[in-house]
Amino acid sequence: MNECLFCKISNKEIPSKIEYEDEEIVAFDDINPKAPVHILIVPKKHIPSVAESTKEDTELLGKMIIVAKKLAEEKGINESGYRLVFNTRKNAGQIVDHIHLHLLGGQKFGGMV
Ligand code: AMP
Ligand code: ZN
Repeated sequence: MNECLFCKISNKEIPSKIEYEDEEIVAFDDINPKAPVHILIVPKKHIPSVAESTKEDTELLGKMIIVAKKLAEEKGINESGYRLVFNTRKNAGQIVDHIHLHLLGGQKFGGMV
């Protein structure tokens, strides 16, 4: 049985506020938002992190960025700007081991860390 939280969200075993969905990707609001707009863009394929991604995933990872861009336009943060983040493994603070892209916006951010 798959115990992965984001696999469960992507197959609707666990509810979320879905912002976008297609055959390969789901995007939903972060449950604990760190900015006025905080959406997680998640592939339905289980990849633990960027560190485990392969050349085969090139198109999928590119699509995640294009979905983030589309959502930024829809949320009205395209002009003001936004941050895209892939936390990867322990030192980055990755807590969910299913690759996800954070879309953060609606405020001005400080430095990188
Ligand atoms: P990361 O630190 O990059 O692994 O980020 C994981 C993110 O998932 C955090 O920002 C959490 O707030 C978020 N999160 C955890 N559980 C849920 C959930 N059930 N629905 C939506 N977002 C979640
Ligand atoms: Zn998963």
